[in-house]
Amino acid sequence: MSGTDVEMAVHHAEVLDAVDLTAGMRRVVFGGEGLAGYRSTGVGDEYIRLLFPTDPDRRPQLPGIVDGNLDYGSIDLDRLRTYTVRHWDAQARRLTVDFVVHEGGVAATWARQATPGQVIGLNTPTALYGPPAGLDWQVLIADYAGLPAAVRLAETTTAATRLVLEVPGPEHEIDVRARPGLEVVWVHGGNGHAPSRLEEIVRALPRPEGVGYVWVAGESKVLRGVRKHLRHELRLPAAAYKTVGYWIEDAEKWRERYDGLGADTRAALDAIWEKGGDEEDLEDEYEARLAELGL
Ligand SMILES: Cc1cc2nc3c(=O)[nH]c(=O)nc-3n(C[C@H](O)[C@H](O)[C@H](O)COP(=O)(O)OP(=O)(O)OC[C@H]3O[C@@H](n4cnc5c(N)ncnc54)[C@H](O)[C@@H]3O)c2cc1C
Repeated sequence: MSGTDVEMAVHHAEVLDAVDLTAGMRRVVFGGEGLAGYRSTGVGDEYIRLLFPTDPDRRPQLPGIVDGNLDYGSIDLDRLRTYTVRHWDAQARRLTVDFVVHEGGVAATWARQATPGQVIGLNTPTALYGPPAGLDWQVLIADYAGLPAAVRLAETTTAATRLVLEVPGPEHEIDVRARPGLEVVWVHGGNGHAPSRLEEIVRALPRPEGVGYVWVAGESKVLRGVRKHLRHELRLPAAAYKTVGYWIEDAEKWRERYDGLGADTRAALDAIWEKGGDEEDLEDEYEARLAELGL
């Protein structure tokens, strides 16, 4: 385990409060006895898998843990989604998640109706943000799904930070707490409503002197273009950036095409990750293969 890894555990989490932050984002605060022993990595983009019951008024069965890994057994994997811990208050045992409430989807549909007393499952978080030592500046860029992580990162770090947030429109902006060295830029579009400008924004970034880090989260295909620029055109070392695909536009069509590939092709794609070695090299291979397959 690395410094920020925490031993895997699973928890029931009870809704304490649910409020609309904007017309497109709903904040749900979880708590209850089930969160006893919940351990945070303390890193701003830590994410958890949420397990939603089919009937929102029943408690979901939690997965088991085998050799430190989650064992879902007969649990329907389509009830699982990945979300950022927007805030964790260990003393009050309150865990906050901000949900984009887009059309459809197990998670967005659940979030819309979330009511105190309902219970979901969640696991120990994992973090991805890992800037180089001696960081002088960072750029955090995200669409609406990445906003909770980007804002928490901006709040919990001290380096000079440019925070660029792409939200559907001005009515989707939220308050971001000011701090010295933090510049916030709002961009409107993307998010399944209009073409995303995240790649164009990354391509236009100035490159200040000193040790820097670029962290970008958003729609997966958009992120492929972003990563291509940072890794293959600017030739940044892997330590200087992190790009994370948070969701897939037209996921139903994507899934249909993926399922139509045939078992051997799907197994070959999965096998790329099992090869071991440099993760960014594996990502190159995986993305190239997806592109060849029209995904
Ligand atoms: C590490 C990580 C952290 C994340 N943190 C957050 C977070 O804090 N808050 C958050 O809201 N999301 C977050 N996401 C994204 C979230 O997991 C996806 O958006 C997920 O697909 C939502 O599930 P769903 O059941 O609502 O929709 P799905 O069943 O996955 O999809 C249903 C339909 O909605 C569309 N769709 C899915 N997500 C979006 C979206 N964001 N905008 C517009 N259309 C969409 C799909 O294309 C599909 O057509 C995170 C993802 C990752 C990988």
